[in-house]
Amino acid sequence: MAGRSAQAAHNRKGPSVFESLSPSSLPAADEALREPIRRLIADAMGPTPLDRRARSWQGFDAAFSRALGQAGFLGLTLPERYGGGGRGPFARFVIVEELLSAGAPVAAHWIADRQSAPLILGYGSEAQRRFYLPRICRGEAFFCIGMSEPGSGSDLASVRTRAERTGKGWRLGGQKIWTTNAQHSDYMIALVRTSGAAADRQAGLSQLIVDLRAPGVAVRPIVDLTGDAHFAEVFFDDVELADDALIGTEGEGWKQVTAELAFERSGPERIYSSIVLVDAWIAHVARAGRRDAATLALAGRMTAEIATLRAMSLAVTALLAQGLSPVVEASLVKDLGTGFEQAVPRWIGDDLAAHPDEAVAPELHRTVAYLSQIAPSFSLRGGTREILRGIIARGLGLR
Ligand SMILES: Cc1cc2nc3c(=O)[nH]c(=O)nc-3n(C[C@H](O)[C@H](O)[C@H](O)COP(=O)(O)OP(=O)(O)OC[C@H]3O[C@@H](n4cnc5c(N)ncnc54)[C@H](O)[C@@H]3O)c2cc1C
Repeated sequence: MAGRSAQAAHNRKGPSVFESLSPSSLPAADEALREPIRRLIADAMGPTPLDRRARSWQGFDAAFSRALGQAGFLGLTLPERYGGGGRGPFARFVIVEELLSAGAPVAAHWIADRQSAPLILGYGSEAQRRFYLPRICRGEAFFCIGMSEPGSGSDLASVRTRAERTGKGWRLGGQKIWTTNAQHSDYMIALVRTSGAAADRQAGLSQLIVDLRAPGVAVRPIVDLTGDAHFAEVFFDDVELADDALIGTEGEGWKQVTAELAFERSGPERIYSSIVLVDAWIAHVARAGRRDAATLALAGRMTAEIATLRAMSLAVTALLAQGLSPVVEASLVKDLGTGFEQAVPRWIGDDLAAHPDEAVAPELHRTVAYLSQIAPSFSLRGGTREILRGIIARGLGLR
C-alpha cells in the first residue's frame, strides 16, 4: 500500500496539492475590469427581484450575453487573433465574480466561455478555431455539454451514444440527459463512442461538435422541482455529421474531457451560487437592528468561509494562468465550495425561522425557498462529491 501511494504521489506532475494551492492575488489590470463590468450589469439588469437574481446560473438571456461580448467581457482567456481578450484566467475570475455577485443571467454564454472555447482552442483544428471562437467571443454561439446519459453520469467511461464513420463523415445515434440549456443552444460538444464497446471504458471515446439544428436531433426539456426547465434530454436518431465534427483526436475523448472538467470545476462559480442570499440576509439583519451573538456568529462564519474559498479559488486560477490543468486542486475547491453554497440557505432559513416576529420581505422568503430546493444539485452538477473525493484521494496518493 505504501508503495502504491508513493507511486501515485510520484506520478503526479508538479508540486503537491498543498504546495500548489499557494495564496495569489488579482493583478491590478484585471481588478480594473470591475468598474466597467459593474456599470454594464447595472445598466442591463436594472432592479431585478432577488429570487430571479438567485437564478443567475439558470438565467438564459442571449441579448445580455451579446452585450457582454460587445464590451469585450467574453473569451477573456482566448487569444486576440480569435476575437478573445488575450488576457487570461484572472480577468475571467473578476468578470465571473461580478456577474454572480449581482445575480446576472449568465446561462447563455456560460458553458461556451468556460469550457467549449478553451477546449476548441486546445484541441480543435485551425479551421474550427476560426469558425467557432470569434462567434463565442461575440456571444453569438451558445454551447451545451453532452456527457451524461441514462446509466452514465459519474461513470462517464460507460457512455453508449455512438458515432460511426460514413463515407462523408459521421452518423450519430443515442441519447444524452441532464444537458443544461440544450433547448436554447446552437451546439453540443458530445462525448461519444467511436470504436469498441462500453466495456472498453476510456478507450474508443471521442468528442464531436453537434449542430443541434441538424435533422434527427430532438431536444426535450426536463422540468425540475422548482418548476424551471434548465436542462433537457437530447435524442440522436441517425444524425449525419460532417467529417470535421470531430474535435481533437479520435479515441482521445477521455483525456480531452478530463482537461475540460478541470475548467468546469475550477472557477469562482463553485462558491457563489447562494451569494445574493448572503448579501440580502446581511441587509435584512442590519435593517432589523440585530446585534446578538448568534447573528454575528453566522455573519462571521459566512464571511470567513467565503474569504477562504475565494482565496483557494484564486490559487487554482493562478495554476490555470500558468497553463497547468489543476484537476485535483479544482476538485478540492468544488467539493468545499458546493458544501458552502448548500449550507447557506439552510443557515439563513433556520435563522429567519428563529425570529418569527421579525418582518421579512417576501422576496427574501422566496429566495430561501428556491435555493433550499435547488441546493442539492450544486454538488451534483459538474461531478458528484464522491467522485471528486476519489480524485482528491488519488492525487494525495491515498488510492
Ligand atoms: C443542475 C444540473 C445540471 C447538469 N448539467 C449537465 C450538463 O450540462 N451536461 C451533462 O453531461 N451532465 C449534466 N448534469 C449531470 C451531472 O453531471 C450528473 O448528474 C452527475 O455527473 C452524476 O451522475 P448521475 O446523475 O448519473 O448519478 P450517478 O452517477 O448514478 O451517481 C449517484 C450517486 O452515486 C455516487 N457514485 C457513483 N459512482 C460512484 C463511485 N464510483 N464511487 C462512489 N460513489 C459513486 C454518486 O456520487 C452519487 O451520489 C447536470 C446535473 C445537474 C444536477
